[in-house]
Amino acid sequence: MHLELTNQTLATILLDCMHHYPSYKKAKEAFGVILGATEPTSYIGEYSFPIGNVDFRAQDEVSPNKQINQMIMNARKLVATSTSIASYHSHPFDGAYVDWARPSNEDCHYFINEPLEIQLIVALAQIYDESKPYKLVYKKDSTKEFIPNDNMDADPIEKTESTETQYIQGHFQNVAFEIRAYLNTESSLKDIDLFSSEVELNQTLWQHDVHLEQLPAEAMYSIRKLEYAHRQKSQKNASDKIDYHLEKVKKLQIANPIIPTEDDYHNIRFINGLLLKEATSLSYKQAIQLARKGNIFADLHEDSVVLCQVLFDEQANVLFLEDLEKEVGSTIDLADYMVENGYFEEISLCNIRKFPLTFWVLEDKK
Ligand SMILES: [Zn+2]
Repeated sequence: MHLELTNQTLATILLDCMHHYPSYKKAKEAFGVILGATEPTSYIGEYSFPIGNVDFRAQDEVSPNKQINQMIMNARKLVATSTSIASYHSHPFDGAYVDWARPSNEDCHYFINEPLEIQLIVALAQIYDESKPYKLVYKKDSTKEFIPNDNMDADPIEKTESTETQYIQGHFQNVAFEIRAYLNTESSLKDIDLFSSEVELNQTLWQHDVHLEQLPAEAMYSIRKLEYAHRQKSQKNASDKIDYHLEKVKKLQIANPIIPTEDDYHNIRFINGLLLKEATSLSYKQAIQLARKGNIFADLHEDSVVLCQVLFDEQANVLFLEDLEKEVGSTIDLADYMVENGYFEEISLCNIRKFPLTFWVLEDKK
């Protein structure tokens, strides 16, 4: 058996844990339940439900309210296909440590008396000075079992097996985290393999240099389809679907507006007193938005290089280049594929000629 988190279960849990960790001094433990299904070879966590209403919450302790929990676990009446399969809580730390997502002795005593079969522990700490993109990876470690110790001041009794168990590590913004799943044997908490379609999706996006932070809202439909294709049971025949949706997402990706550092000075320039950055990939829609604000220019590489402003004619619904160097007022219409592929195509009866375009855009300061 293993636990697989699908949908946005993992992201929801992480956001809940981060929400209770505004800073280390003010950090408190997060707590919630995971709803889903128990299948012959796996537990599937489809939704997570962060629980705000607890009896007591501190940096190293959370005491759930049993009545509230019972109410939420009865949620199968609301979410007809789901039942409660797990709960999660966080371990907020001041730094990243070895074994920081392991159960405490109190965790062992508490959870073996609970009805839920799986426990998830999320260890997290704000350790980065600079904001990091969302990254998730799988890790493996020796399988361990944690047995409650009658000496309440001691650590739980630990048994190590020769097998390995999978867990998740990652970072987001200034937070590093580690997530491990445990099976409740009713006398101990024992490592169980943890999978998440969000990890596999995250890895695919990283491999193809697509970053969620750079995607517009329109891309989210394809991202959902991609997440679905990465689930364990869709793995057969999934690669065609992954390629298809990945291509759609890539087309929607916005060239990341970056504040230039000294190393970037080869691809920035001043035009009309504006500091512009070279756009290495640009969607047609994005070009129109920039053109409406007057924030996009292009170098047209003919025999010589001609600087043009990219403008949009609202009435004719056409994106066009206005020559700023040779003949102001002379214009060239641009089709969507030309913007996206970075060339102007001149089609005459007997010939097709392509002229490369370099787009320069003003960073959108929101
Ligand atoms: Zn704990």
